[in-house]
Amino acid sequence: MRRGFLIDMDGVIYKSSQMLSGADQFINGLRQRGIPFLFLTNNSQRTRRDVATKLRRLGIEAFEEDIFTCAMATARFLATQKPNGTAYVIGEGGLLQALYQNGYSIVDHDPDYVVVGEGRTLTLEQMESAVKMINRGAKLIATNLDPNCPTADGVRPGCGAFVAMLEAATGTTAFSVGKPSPVMMRQARKELCLSTEDVVMVGDTMETDVLGGVQMGYRTVLVLTGSTQEADLAHYAYRPDYIVDSIADLCEHELVTGANAAPVEALAATT
Ligand SMILES: [Mg+2]
Repeated sequence: MRRGFLIDMDGVIYKSSQMLSGADQFINGLRQRGIPFLFLTNNSQRTRRDVATKLRRLGIEAFEEDIFTCAMATARFLATQKPNGTAYVIGEGGLLQALYQNGYSIVDHDPDYVVVGEGRTLTLEQMESAVKMINRGAKLIATNLDPNCPTADGVRPGCGAFVAMLEAATGTTAFSVGKPSPVMMRQARKELCLSTEDVVMVGDTMETDVLGGVQMGYRTVLVLTGSTQEADLAHYAYRPDYIVDSIADLCEHELVTGANAAPVEALAATT
């Protein structure tokens, strides 16, 4: 049968700046078999070119077109909701570039949307401006609601933490586009030209990767090299279809070896 993979990165392919064992082999195997895939990330900070460069530096063959970020999903979503709109952005290059590419103007007053992503340049002045804009009618959009992001020595506040501050200050609720939102999960499937039953989501986080896949009807694979341990599954009302210790265990997995080996071009042409 046809098959394609959506692959989370942090905790699956790499950890901090270290490739996880087997990640390069897994990706090479998908390419050799002509199985389509996308790296799917809830980090809006980097452009897809930046992400591809990072992966290549880690030793994984990757190109811009292999990357799908929540910044891209957010910009494409806003372009369908309100073409050629305006946004006040709390975020960095990946989000700004995606918005520009989708016809948006970045403004510092009276925006249609306040759009929040990750970054390391956040200031209280930006938050204050955002609160005033939201109170005057701008809509609050989150690229994702991840409360924190893993680092080499613990976690740092994530986009969801910044958004929570704006929600508390304004009494509004943000609309979030990143995983597990069906908006991003569906966009990624369509990018691969695959049907729902053909998609396999691989990730390390139950609240985003696995929940997003479960809600869409994709098959889900939990890898245990990241944020979730097998014992944690007892706390969730949903389960992944497969659990593997690491991405290395997927290299010869039936999900890969049993897939249709037709070239990517042929898959796209028939969809
Ligand atoms: Mg992850």
